[in-house]
Amino acid sequence: MRAYNLYSEGDKSLEKVSEQLYREGFVYSPSKPKISRSQLEDILKNVFYTGVFMFKGRLYEGNHEPLISLELFDQVKEAFKKDNKPLYRNEHDFAFAGLLTCGECGSSITAEIKKGKYIYYHCAHGKGDCSQTKYIRQEVLDEQLQEVVRRIHLTDEQKQWTIEALKQSNFDEQEFHKDKIKQLNVECQKWRDRINQIYIDKLDGKISEEFWQEKHNAWTQELRGMHKIIEAYDKANEGYLQTGIHFLELSNRAYSLYIQQNSHEKAKMLKTLLSNCKLIDGIAHWEYRKPFNILAKNDGCIVNWS
Ligand SMILES: [Zn+2]
Repeated sequence: MRAYNLYSEGDKSLEKVSEQLYREGFVYSPSKPKISRSQLEDILKNVFYTGVFMFKGRLYEGNHEPLISLELFDQVKEAFKKDNKPLYRNEHDFAFAGLLTCGECGSSITAEIKKGKYIYYHCAHGKGDCSQTKYIRQEVLDEQLQEVVRRIHLTDEQKQWTIEALKQSNFDEQEFHKDKIKQLNVECQKWRDRINQIYIDKLDGKISEEFWQEKHNAWTQELRGMHKIIEAYDKANEGYLQTGIHFLELSNRAYSLYIQQNSHEKAKMLKTLLSNCKLIDGIAHWEYRKPFNILAKNDGCIVNWS
């Protein structure tokens, strides 16, 4: 009963109520005189003490003497809502706060909870004079910021087109590599001919075994080096194109991945995409980081959000 009264005042945490009950001489059990936070919570939330009881999801009038009034019980319920509020007050839930700055004064953007559940963002007015007084709901901001990712999203058709363009721009480089490989193959043939010739010279007795061995080793080494260069050119052709396509695939999926995430994950992704994000009159303005600025069609801000 005393617990209900104390907690319904709404200015004490469960810990403080537990502390005060203990100080006032209320004993929870002989072995454990001080009630724990969760035990206290269980008792305070138990509708049984109001003279009714819950059975299969329905409330019934009990025969037992009510320990507390329903009114007090409801006050306690309100107090719980208040007490739970601080749980939302961390950066995790104000995900976009760290992302934005005020477009007018450069101050950080802060957030608060209104009506117990709506998160509102606004200028923290930490740098003196600023006329920005607009509060913006997290849902509205979230919707605006989706645009950041949507703009670097490519449709399948656009992706295909870009891959073709990539292949085309890659073509010259490929031709260059092909030329190089051709030259190297001619060089290789020369070394192979020399290696064959010196072997014949050795068989014919024109040169000593030692001299042949020395030249054979050196030239074979030379040939191996050239094969490595040819291989590298081959791989370069493939790698360049593969990397480009992979990047496009990712950008294609980015939006659908993005919208499924919680606001904290969203903010993390936005921080990697944006170099700058400002809030002016409740509208988000941003600049893309490289290379996302190339993929984004309209760098800048969204207009006509209301
Ligand atoms: Zn400001």
